[in-house]
Amino acid sequence: MSDTIFSKIIAREIPADIVYEDDVCLAFRDIAPKAPVHVLLIPKQPLTTLGEAISRDAAMLGHLMLKAGEIARQEGCGDAFRVVVNNGRGAGQEVFHLHLHILGGRELGWPPG
Ligand code: 5GP
Repeated sequence: MSDTIFSKIIAREIPADIVYEDDVCLAFRDIAPKAPVHVLLIPKQPLTTLGEAISRDAAMLGHLMLKAGEIARQEGCGDAFRVVVNNGRGAGQEVFHLHLHILGGRELGWPPG
């Protein structure tokens, strides 16, 4: 997988507003937030897209989902938040390092665009 802007954030080569970190993942505020809370949660082990995940990635993916809920609570979203993964250009993915968008802090319409 080629380096992305998110690899540079993990390596602290470019700044980010980090809200959570552990051995497996890093969470930081989106530079162009789409809601009052908009945090990106990424694995430190690079994976291009969710669709390319294999069974070996199961523990990491489960960890991300658990942390997404914790971060949403930590950010004050209460029980109303959304976790989004854009997979592939056709679904709006721009950065090819798997990331979960954690969105909250306002009414979230459905379906998304
Ligand atoms: P995607 O469209 O790939 O699902 O989401 C990529 C997200 O990364 C976008 O919401 C975009 O605003 C965010 N983003 C892109 N570059 C940077 C950056 O340098 N720093 C931060 N914090 N977010 C970024």
